Amino acid sequence: MTRTQALDAFKADLAGIRFHDDANYLSARSKDYFWYSPILNDLLQDKLGELVVVPQSVEEVTAVAALIARYKLPLTLRGGGTGNYGQCVPLEGGVIMDLTRLDKVREIREGYVRVEAGARISRLDEAARETGQELLMYPSTRQMATIGGFIAGGSGGIGSLRHGMLRDPGNVSYIKVITVEENPQVIELRDDAIQKVQHAYGTNGIVVEVGLALTPATDWIHTAALFDGYDHALRFATSAQEGGMDCYLLTAVERRFAPYYTKFGDYFPADRDAIFAMVAPSELARFTAEAEARGGRVSFAMTKDEIRAAGLQPAYECGWNHTTLQALKADKGWTYLQVAYPRPFDPDLVMAQMARYGEELYWHHEMARMDGEIQIFALPLVRYRGKDETYRLIAELESLDGCTIFDPHVVTIEDGGMKQIDDSQIAFKKQADPYGLMNPGKTRGWSADMARKDETQGEVV
Ligand code: FAD
Repeated sequence: MTRTQALDAFKADLAGIRFHDDANYLSARSKDYFWYSPILNDLLQDKLGELVVVPQSVEEVTAVAALIARYKLPLTLRGGGTGNYGQCVPLEGGVIMDLTRLDKVREIREGYVRVEAGARISRLDEAARETGQELLMYPSTRQMATIGGFIAGGSGGIGSLRHGMLRDPGNVSYIKVITVEENPQVIELRDDAIQKVQHAYGTNGIVVEVGLALTPATDWIHTAALFDGYDHALRFATSAQEGGMDCYLLTAVERRFAPYYTKFGDYFPADRDAIFAMVAPSELARFTAEAEARGGRVSFAMTKDEIRAAGLQPAYECGWNHTTLQALKADKGWTYLQVAYPRPFDPDLVMAQMARYGEELYWHHEMARMDGEIQIFALPLVRYRGKDETYRLIAELESLDGCTIFDPHVVTIEDGGMKQIDDSQIAFKKQADPYGLMNPGKTRGWSADMARKDETQGEVV
Protein backbone atom coordinates (compact mmCIF):
# COMPACT_ATOMS: atom_id res chain seq x y z
CA MET A 1 0.00 0.00 0.00
CA THR A 2 1.35 3.45 -0.85
CA ARG A 3 1.25 6.31 1.65
CA THR A 4 -1.56 7.96 -0.32
CA GLN A 5 -3.62 4.76 -0.31
CA ALA A 6 -2.98 4.29 3.40
CA LEU A 7 -4.04 7.87 4.17
CA ASP A 8 -7.18 7.54 2.04
CA ALA A 9 -8.12 4.31 3.78
CA PHE A 10 -7.37 5.87 7.19
CA LYS A 11 -9.58 8.86 6.37
CA ALA A 12 -12.41 6.66 5.14
CA ASP A 13 -12.33 4.67 8.39
CA LEU A 14 -12.36 7.74 10.68
CA ALA A 15 -16.16 7.44 10.81
CA GLY A 16 -17.02 10.95 11.92
CA ILE A 17 -13.85 11.73 13.89
CA ARG A 18 -12.97 15.33 13.07
CA PHE A 19 -10.06 15.90 10.68
CA HIS A 20 -8.51 18.65 8.56
CA ASP A 21 -6.38 18.38 5.44
CA ASP A 22 -6.33 21.85 3.91
CA ALA A 23 -2.88 23.26 3.27
CA ASN A 24 -3.02 26.27 5.63
CA TYR A 25 -4.27 24.21 8.53
CA LEU A 26 -1.64 21.54 7.95
CA SER A 27 1.12 24.13 7.77
CA ALA A 28 0.07 25.84 11.02
CA ARG A 29 -0.29 22.55 12.89
CA SER A 30 3.07 21.22 11.67
CA LYS A 31 5.12 23.88 13.47
CA ASP A 32 6.16 24.86 16.96
CA TYR A 33 8.62 27.48 18.24
CA PHE A 34 11.67 25.80 16.64
CA TRP A 35 12.35 29.07 14.80
CA TYR A 36 14.20 30.36 17.91
CA SER A 37 17.02 28.28 16.40
CA PRO A 38 18.23 29.17 12.89
CA ILE A 39 19.70 25.65 12.73
CA LEU A 40 16.32 24.02 13.41
CA ASN A 41 14.58 26.53 11.20
CA ASP A 42 16.62 25.36 8.18
CA LEU A 43 15.98 21.74 9.09
CA LEU A 44 12.28 21.88 9.90
CA GLN A 45 10.51 24.73 8.15
CA ASP A 46 9.37 22.56 5.21
CA LYS A 47 8.26 19.53 7.22
CA LEU A 48 4.51 18.96 6.97
CA GLY A 49 1.94 16.56 8.28
CA GLU A 50 -0.59 15.19 5.79
CA LEU A 51 -3.69 15.10 7.98
CA VAL A 52 -4.70 16.56 11.35
CA VAL A 53 -7.16 14.58 13.47
CA VAL A 54 -8.91 16.21 16.41
CA PRO A 55 -10.42 13.54 18.67
CA GLN A 56 -13.08 14.75 21.08
CA SER A 57 -12.78 11.94 23.63
CA VAL A 58 -10.50 9.14 24.84
CA GLU A 59 -12.68 6.73 22.84
CA GLU A 60 -11.89 8.65 19.66
CA VAL A 61 -8.17 8.73 20.57
CA THR A 62 -8.31 4.96 20.92
CA ALA A 63 -10.05 4.56 17.56
CA VAL A 64 -7.40 6.72 15.86
CA ALA A 65 -4.58 4.76 17.54
CA ALA A 66 -6.02 1.52 16.15
CA LEU A 67 -6.24 2.95 12.62
CA ILE A 68 -2.68 4.33 12.81
CA ALA A 69 -1.44 0.83 13.68
CA ARG A 70 -3.59 -0.74 11.01
CA TYR A 71 -2.35 1.51 8.21
CA LYS A 72 1.19 1.99 9.61
CA LEU A 73 1.11 5.78 9.39
CA PRO A 74 3.53 8.08 11.24
CA LEU A 75 1.75 9.76 14.17
CA THR A 76 2.80 13.04 15.81
CA LEU A 77 0.95 14.21 18.92
CA ARG A 78 0.31 17.89 19.47
CA GLY A 79 -0.87 19.91 22.45
CA GLY A 80 -0.42 23.69 22.29
CA GLY A 81 2.51 23.42 19.87
CA THR A 82 4.70 25.71 22.01
CA GLY A 83 7.79 23.47 22.25
CA ASN A 84 11.11 24.94 21.17
CA TYR A 85 12.83 21.97 19.55
CA GLY A 86 10.46 20.91 16.79
CA GLN A 87 9.12 18.28 19.18
CA CYS A 88 5.74 18.19 17.48
CA VAL A 89 7.01 18.71 13.93
CA PRO A 90 6.26 15.58 11.85
CA LEU A 91 9.63 14.68 10.32
CA GLU A 92 8.10 11.94 8.16
CA GLY A 93 4.69 13.48 7.45
CA GLY A 94 1.67 11.33 8.26
CA VAL A 95 -0.98 12.13 10.86
CA ILE A 96 -0.92 14.87 13.50
CA MET A 97 -3.20 14.25 16.46
CA ASP A 98 -4.37 17.47 18.14
CA LEU A 99 -5.21 16.60 21.74
CA THR A 100 -6.58 19.94 22.90
CA ARG A 101 -10.22 18.72 23.02
CA LEU A 102 -9.31 16.28 25.77
CA ASP A 103 -9.56 18.99 28.38
CA LYS A 104 -11.67 17.74 31.26
CA VAL A 105 -10.60 17.99 34.88
CA ARG A 106 -11.53 14.56 36.24
CA GLU A 107 -10.85 14.95 39.95
CA ILE A 108 -9.59 17.62 42.34
CA ARG A 109 -8.96 16.96 45.99
CA GLU A 110 -6.56 18.32 48.56
CA GLY A 111 -3.05 18.17 47.12
CA TYR A 112 -3.99 16.38 43.89
CA VAL A 113 -5.60 16.88 40.50
CA ARG A 114 -6.32 14.32 37.78
CA VAL A 115 -6.94 15.86 34.39
CA GLU A 116 -7.11 14.99 30.69
CA ALA A 117 -3.85 15.62 28.88
CA GLY A 118 -5.08 18.27 26.44
CA ALA A 119 -6.19 20.74 29.13
CA ARG A 120 -4.58 24.16 28.78
CA ILE A 121 -2.32 24.79 31.77
CA SER A 122 -3.84 28.20 32.60
CA ARG A 123 -7.36 26.69 32.66
CA LEU A 124 -6.11 23.87 34.88
CA ASP A 125 -4.46 26.34 37.26
CA GLU A 126 -7.73 28.33 37.38
CA ALA A 127 -9.64 25.15 38.23
CA ALA A 128 -7.16 24.41 41.02
CA ARG A 129 -7.49 27.99 42.31
CA GLU A 130 -11.25 27.55 42.61
CA THR A 131 -10.44 24.97 45.30
CA GLY A 132 -7.88 27.24 47.03
CA GLN A 133 -4.94 25.44 45.42
CA GLU A 134 -2.48 26.00 42.58
CA LEU A 135 -0.10 24.12 40.30
CA LEU A 136 3.44 23.50 41.52
CA MET A 137 4.93 24.85 38.30
CA TYR A 138 4.15 25.88 34.74
CA PRO A 139 5.91 27.20 31.63
CA SER A 140 5.49 30.85 30.73
CA THR A 141 3.43 29.60 27.76
CA ARG A 142 0.70 28.46 30.17
CA GLN A 143 -2.00 30.25 28.17
CA MET A 144 -1.52 27.99 25.10
CA ALA A 145 0.43 24.97 26.38
CA THR A 146 -1.32 21.80 27.51
CA ILE A 147 -0.48 19.81 30.60
CA GLY A 148 0.22 16.69 28.48
CA GLY A 149 2.61 18.65 26.25
CA PHE A 150 4.39 20.07 29.31
CA ILE A 151 4.91 16.59 30.77
CA ALA A 152 5.92 15.04 27.44
CA GLY A 153 8.04 17.94 26.20
CA GLY A 154 8.90 20.30 29.06
CA SER A 155 11.07 20.14 32.13
CA GLY A 156 10.07 22.77 34.68
CA GLY A 157 9.70 26.53 34.84
CA ILE A 158 7.89 29.10 36.92
CA GLY A 159 7.49 27.51 40.37
CA SER A 160 10.57 25.27 39.99
CA LEU A 161 12.33 27.53 42.44
CA ARG A 162 9.91 26.33 45.10
CA HIS A 163 9.00 22.82 43.94
CA GLY A 164 11.81 21.48 41.76
CA MET A 165 11.54 20.10 38.25
CA LEU A 166 8.69 18.08 36.74
CA ARG A 167 10.65 14.87 37.11
CA ASP A 168 11.37 15.35 40.82
CA PRO A 169 9.54 12.76 42.96
CA GLY A 170 5.89 13.42 43.76
CA ASN A 171 5.32 16.27 41.30
CA VAL A 172 3.68 14.06 38.66
CA SER A 173 2.34 10.85 40.11
CA TYR A 174 0.00 9.34 37.52
CA ILE A 175 -0.04 8.98 33.72
CA LYS A 176 -2.59 7.06 31.66
CA VAL A 177 -1.34 5.98 28.23
CA ILE A 178 -3.10 4.54 25.17
CA THR A 179 -0.89 2.28 23.08
CA VAL A 180 -0.66 2.44 19.28
CA GLU A 181 -1.72 -1.07 18.25
CA GLU A 182 -4.57 -2.62 16.30
CA ASN A 183 -6.16 -3.25 19.68
CA PRO A 184 -4.93 -0.33 21.77
CA GLN A 185 -4.28 -1.02 25.43
CA VAL A 186 -4.66 1.32 28.39
CA ILE A 187 -1.54 1.43 30.58
CA GLU A 188 -1.53 3.25 33.91
CA LEU A 189 1.81 4.41 35.32
CA ARG A 190 2.22 5.54 38.90
CA ASP A 191 4.92 7.31 40.90
CA ASP A 192 8.44 6.65 39.61
CA ALA A 193 7.11 4.60 36.66
CA ILE A 194 5.88 7.85 35.08
CA GLN A 195 9.53 8.54 34.09
CA LYS A 196 9.03 6.01 31.28
CA VAL A 197 6.90 8.62 29.49
CA GLN A 198 7.91 11.97 30.99
CA HIS A 199 9.95 14.07 28.50
CA ALA A 200 9.71 11.30 25.87
CA TYR A 201 8.39 13.76 23.22
CA GLY A 202 5.30 11.64 22.55
CA THR A 203 7.38 8.79 21.13
CA ASN A 204 6.05 6.05 23.38
CA GLY A 205 2.32 6.15 23.91
CA ILE A 206 -0.51 8.67 23.85
CA VAL A 207 -0.88 10.33 27.24
CA VAL A 208 -4.60 10.86 27.82
CA GLU A 209 -4.70 11.60 31.53
CA VAL A 210 -2.25 12.81 34.20
CA GLY A 211 -2.26 13.18 37.98
CA LEU A 212 -0.32 16.05 39.55
CA ALA A 213 0.39 17.41 43.00
CA LEU A 214 -1.23 20.72 44.01
CA THR A 215 -0.21 23.16 46.72
CA PRO A 216 -2.27 25.74 48.67
CA ALA A 217 -2.74 28.85 46.50
CA THR A 218 -0.86 32.09 47.16
CA ASP A 219 -1.80 35.46 45.66
CA TRP A 220 1.71 36.09 44.40
CA ILE A 221 2.94 39.66 44.17
CA HIS A 222 4.52 40.39 40.79
CA THR A 223 7.47 42.66 41.41
CA ALA A 224 10.89 43.84 40.22
CA ALA A 225 13.95 44.97 42.16
CA LEU A 226 16.58 47.04 40.35
CA PHE A 227 20.33 46.95 41.02
CA ASP A 228 23.37 48.85 39.81
CA GLY A 229 25.34 45.79 38.70
CA TYR A 230 24.29 42.34 37.51
CA ASP A 231 26.44 40.72 40.20
CA HIS A 232 24.43 42.58 42.89
CA ALA A 233 21.21 41.32 41.32
CA LEU A 234 22.48 37.74 41.20
CA ARG A 235 23.77 37.83 44.77
CA PHE A 236 20.44 39.20 45.98
CA ALA A 237 18.51 36.43 44.21
CA THR A 238 20.76 33.59 45.36
CA SER A 239 20.78 34.79 48.95
CA ALA A 240 16.97 35.19 48.89
CA GLN A 241 16.70 31.61 47.69
CA GLU A 242 19.23 30.28 50.19
CA GLY A 243 17.42 32.18 52.94
CA GLY A 244 14.18 30.42 52.06
CA MET A 245 12.30 33.53 50.96
CA ASP A 246 8.88 32.33 49.74
CA CYS A 247 8.94 33.08 46.01
CA TYR A 248 7.38 31.36 43.01
CA LEU A 249 9.77 33.04 40.57
CA LEU A 250 13.16 34.77 40.82
CA THR A 251 14.59 35.77 37.46
CA ALA A 252 17.70 37.89 37.00
CA VAL A 253 17.66 39.92 33.77
CA GLU A 254 20.60 42.11 32.88
CA ARG A 255 20.12 45.73 31.78
CA ARG A 256 20.79 45.18 28.07
CA PHE A 257 17.37 43.49 27.87
CA ALA A 258 15.58 46.66 29.02
CA PRO A 259 14.94 47.97 25.47
CA TYR A 260 13.14 44.69 24.68
CA TYR A 261 10.82 45.07 27.69
CA THR A 262 9.09 47.97 25.99
CA LYS A 263 6.03 48.12 28.24
CA PHE A 264 8.00 48.47 31.45
CA GLY A 265 9.57 51.93 30.91
CA ASP A 266 11.00 53.22 34.20
CA TYR A 267 10.07 50.01 35.95
CA PHE A 268 13.04 48.46 34.11
CA PRO A 269 15.31 51.27 32.85
CA ALA A 270 18.35 50.64 30.66
CA ASP A 271 20.79 51.63 33.43
CA ARG A 272 19.72 48.99 35.94
CA ASP A 273 19.77 45.18 36.18
CA ALA A 274 16.53 43.58 37.29
CA ILE A 275 15.19 40.77 39.40
CA PHE A 276 11.67 39.92 38.30
CA ALA A 277 9.90 37.97 41.00
CA MET A 278 6.66 36.48 42.25
CA VAL A 279 6.81 36.90 46.02
CA ALA A 280 4.41 35.79 48.77
CA PRO A 281 2.59 38.88 50.16
CA SER A 282 3.96 38.10 53.62
CA GLU A 283 7.53 38.28 52.24
CA LEU A 284 7.30 41.56 50.33
CA ALA A 285 8.69 43.65 53.21
CA ARG A 286 11.66 41.28 53.53
CA PHE A 287 12.16 41.27 49.73
CA THR A 288 12.22 45.09 49.75
CA ALA A 289 14.55 45.34 52.76
CA GLU A 290 17.04 42.80 51.41
CA ALA A 291 17.07 44.50 47.99
CA GLU A 292 17.74 47.86 49.65
CA ALA A 293 20.48 46.35 51.80
CA ARG A 294 22.26 45.49 48.54
CA GLY A 295 21.78 48.98 47.12
CA GLY A 296 18.69 48.04 45.11
CA ARG A 297 15.15 49.33 45.03
CA VAL A 298 11.76 47.83 44.25
CA SER A 299 10.33 49.50 41.14
CA PHE A 300 6.83 47.99 41.27
CA ALA A 301 4.87 45.44 43.27
CA MET A 302 1.38 44.47 42.08
CA THR A 303 -1.12 41.66 42.24
CA LYS A 304 -1.77 39.80 38.99
CA ASP A 305 -4.99 41.78 38.43
CA GLU A 306 -3.19 45.06 39.05
CA ILE A 307 -0.37 44.19 36.67
CA ARG A 308 -2.81 43.33 33.91
CA ALA A 309 -4.75 46.55 34.59
CA ALA A 310 -1.46 48.48 34.28
CA GLY A 311 -0.93 46.97 30.81
CA LEU A 312 2.21 45.10 31.89
CA GLN A 313 3.15 41.46 31.49
CA PRO A 314 2.99 39.27 34.59
CA ALA A 315 6.43 38.54 36.05
CA TYR A 316 6.33 34.98 34.68
CA GLU A 317 6.40 36.43 31.15
CA CYS A 318 9.64 38.25 32.04
CA GLY A 319 11.69 35.11 32.58
CA TRP A 320 12.56 31.68 31.26
CA ASN A 321 12.08 31.47 27.50
CA HIS A 322 9.70 34.41 27.34
CA THR A 323 12.80 36.59 27.70
CA THR A 324 14.13 35.15 24.44
CA LEU A 325 10.77 35.79 22.81
CA GLN A 326 10.80 39.48 23.88
CA ALA A 327 14.25 39.90 22.29
CA LEU A 328 13.45 37.97 19.11
CA LYS A 329 10.41 40.13 18.47
CA ALA A 330 12.76 43.11 18.11
CA ASP A 331 15.90 41.52 16.67
CA LYS A 332 15.93 38.30 14.63
CA GLY A 333 19.73 38.09 14.82
CA TRP A 334 19.57 36.41 18.21
CA THR A 335 19.31 32.78 19.09
CA TYR A 336 19.86 31.22 22.52
CA LEU A 337 21.33 28.44 24.65
CA GLN A 338 20.19 26.65 27.78
CA VAL A 339 22.88 26.52 30.45
CA ALA A 340 22.93 24.66 33.77
CA TYR A 341 25.54 26.00 36.20
CA PRO A 342 27.77 23.84 38.36
CA ARG A 343 26.65 23.69 42.01
CA PRO A 344 27.22 25.62 44.22
CA PHE A 345 26.50 28.62 42.00
CA ASP A 346 29.17 31.31 41.81
CA PRO A 347 28.04 34.75 40.49
CA ASP A 348 31.71 35.57 39.72
CA LEU A 349 31.61 32.91 36.99
CA VAL A 350 28.76 34.81 35.33
CA MET A 351 30.67 38.09 35.56
CA ALA A 352 33.67 36.41 33.90
CA GLN A 353 31.39 35.10 31.14
CA MET A 354 29.88 38.54 30.60
CA ALA A 355 33.37 40.02 30.26
CA ARG A 356 34.51 37.23 27.92
CA TYR A 357 31.56 37.39 25.51
CA GLY A 358 30.70 41.12 25.54
CA GLU A 359 28.02 41.98 22.98
CA GLU A 360 27.86 38.39 21.67
CA LEU A 361 25.81 37.11 24.62
CA TYR A 362 23.15 38.79 26.80
CA TRP A 363 22.37 37.09 30.10
CA HIS A 364 19.44 36.17 32.26
CA HIS A 365 19.36 33.58 35.01
CA GLU A 366 16.65 31.44 36.55
CA MET A 367 16.70 30.31 40.16
CA ALA A 368 15.38 26.75 40.37
CA ARG A 369 15.64 23.58 42.42
CA MET A 370 16.57 20.14 41.15
CA ASP A 371 17.01 16.86 43.05
CA GLY A 372 16.21 18.89 46.20
CA GLU A 373 19.16 21.28 45.66
CA ILE A 374 19.42 24.84 44.40
CA GLN A 375 20.14 24.85 40.67
CA ILE A 376 20.75 27.95 38.58
CA PHE A 377 20.00 27.97 34.85
CA ALA A 378 20.70 30.62 32.23
CA LEU A 379 19.05 31.06 28.85
CA PRO A 380 21.46 33.57 27.32
CA LEU A 381 20.74 35.29 24.04
CA VAL A 382 23.47 34.41 21.57
CA ARG A 383 24.29 36.51 18.51
CA TYR A 384 23.97 33.89 15.76
CA ARG A 385 27.24 33.40 13.86
CA GLY A 386 26.52 30.07 12.17
CA LYS A 387 26.41 26.46 13.26
CA ASP A 388 30.15 25.93 13.74
CA GLU A 389 30.47 28.98 15.95
CA THR A 390 27.43 27.87 17.99
CA TYR A 391 29.07 24.52 18.72
CA ARG A 392 32.44 26.14 19.46
CA LEU A 393 30.67 28.30 22.05
CA ILE A 394 28.89 25.28 23.56
CA ALA A 395 32.19 23.41 23.88
CA GLU A 396 33.83 26.44 25.50
CA LEU A 397 31.08 26.93 28.10
CA GLU A 398 31.29 23.24 28.99
CA SER A 399 35.07 22.89 29.08
CA LEU A 400 36.10 26.29 30.48
CA ASP A 401 33.26 26.91 32.90
CA GLY A 402 31.99 23.46 33.82
CA CYS A 403 28.47 24.37 32.65
CA THR A 404 26.13 21.79 31.12
CA ILE A 405 24.45 22.87 27.91
CA PHE A 406 21.00 21.54 27.03
CA ASP A 407 21.34 22.04 23.29
CA PRO A 408 18.21 23.73 21.86
CA HIS A 409 19.38 23.30 18.25
CA VAL A 410 18.64 19.58 17.91
CA VAL A 411 15.49 17.47 17.50
CA THR A 412 16.25 14.28 19.41
CA ILE A 413 15.60 13.79 23.11
CA GLU A 414 19.14 12.55 23.66
CA ASP A 415 21.01 15.32 21.83
CA GLY A 416 19.09 17.96 23.78
CA GLY A 417 18.64 17.80 27.53
CA MET A 418 18.80 14.12 28.30
CA LYS A 419 22.30 13.45 26.88
CA GLN A 420 21.80 9.70 26.83
CA ILE A 421 19.30 7.11 25.66
CA ASP A 422 16.84 6.24 28.41
CA ASP A 423 16.56 2.45 28.18
CA SER A 424 13.37 2.35 30.23
CA GLN A 425 11.69 4.72 27.77
CA ILE A 426 12.77 2.57 24.83
CA ALA A 427 11.58 -0.59 26.58
CA PHE A 428 8.24 1.12 27.15
CA LYS A 429 8.13 2.19 23.49
CA LYS A 430 8.32 -1.49 22.48
CA GLN A 431 5.15 -1.98 24.49
CA ALA A 432 3.27 1.26 23.73
CA ASP A 433 4.37 1.87 20.14
CA PRO A 434 5.52 -1.53 18.90
CA TYR A 435 5.58 -0.51 15.22
CA GLY A 436 7.69 2.59 15.89
CA LEU A 437 5.10 4.93 14.39
CA MET A 438 5.15 7.70 17.01
CA ASN A 439 7.07 10.90 16.31
CA PRO A 440 9.70 9.15 14.16
CA GLY A 441 13.19 10.63 14.23
CA LYS A 442 12.92 12.12 17.72
CA THR A 443 14.74 9.41 19.68
CA ARG A 444 18.11 7.93 18.84
CA GLY A 445 17.25 4.92 21.00
CA TRP A 446 14.87 3.45 18.42
CA SER A 447 15.85 1.77 15.15
CA ALA A 448 13.59 0.24 12.49
CA ASP A 449 14.71 -3.31 13.30
CA MET A 450 13.12 -3.01 16.76
CA ALA A 451 9.62 -2.72 15.26
CA ARG A 452 7.16 -5.56 15.65
CA LYS A 453 6.80 -7.42 12.36
CA ASP A 454 3.31 -7.52 10.93
CA GLU A 455 2.90 -10.07 8.17
CA THR A 456 -0.68 -9.18 7.22
CA GLN A 457 -0.42 -5.49 6.36
CA GLY A 458 3.03 -5.31 4.78
CA GLU A 459 5.08 -2.13 4.53
CA VAL A 460 3.71 1.28 3.67
CA VAL A 461 5.93 2.76 0.98
P1 FAD B 1 3.58 20.60 22.39
O1 FAD B 1 4.60 21.58 21.89
O2 FAD B 1 2.30 20.52 21.65
O3 FAD B 1 4.22 19.16 22.51
C1 FAD B 1 5.44 18.97 23.16
C2 FAD B 1 5.85 17.49 23.00
O4 FAD B 1 4.95 16.68 23.73
C3 FAD B 1 5.78 16.99 21.56
O5 FAD B 1 6.81 16.07 21.35
C4 FAD B 1 4.43 16.30 21.47
O6 FAD B 1 4.43 15.27 20.50
C5 FAD B 1 4.31 15.73 22.87
N1 FAD B 1 2.93 15.62 23.34
C6 FAD B 1 1.97 16.59 23.36
N2 FAD B 1 0.85 16.10 23.91
C7 FAD B 1 1.10 14.81 24.23
C8 FAD B 1 0.31 13.78 24.82
N3 FAD B 1 -0.94 13.97 25.21
N4 FAD B 1 0.89 12.54 24.98
C9 FAD B 1 2.18 12.32 24.64
N5 FAD B 1 2.96 13.26 24.07
C10 FAD B 1 2.42 14.50 23.87
N6 FAD B 1 9.19 24.64 28.66
C11 FAD B 1 9.48 24.39 29.95
O7 FAD B 1 9.61 23.22 30.33
N7 FAD B 1 9.63 25.41 30.84
C12 FAD B 1 9.48 26.72 30.49
O8 FAD B 1 9.59 27.59 31.33
C13 FAD B 1 9.19 27.01 29.13
N8 FAD B 1 9.05 28.29 28.72
C14 FAD B 1 8.77 28.52 27.40
C15 FAD B 1 8.62 29.85 26.96
C16 FAD B 1 8.37 30.12 25.62
C17 FAD B 1 8.19 31.56 25.18
C18 FAD B 1 8.27 29.05 24.69
C19 FAD B 1 7.99 29.32 23.23
C20 FAD B 1 8.41 27.75 25.12
C21 FAD B 1 8.65 27.47 26.47
N9 FAD B 1 8.75 26.15 26.93
C22 FAD B 1 9.04 25.91 28.24
C23 FAD B 1 8.49 25.03 26.02
C24 FAD B 1 6.97 24.67 25.97
O9 FAD B 1 6.18 25.84 25.93
C25 FAD B 1 6.50 23.87 27.16
O10 FAD B 1 7.28 22.75 27.40
C26 FAD B 1 5.00 23.47 27.02
O11 FAD B 1 4.56 22.96 28.22
C27 FAD B 1 4.73 22.47 25.95
O12 FAD B 1 3.33 22.20 25.95
P2 FAD B 1 2.51 22.10 24.59
O13 FAD B 1 1.12 21.68 24.90
O14 FAD B 1 2.66 23.33 23.78
O15 FAD B 1 3.30 20.89 23.92
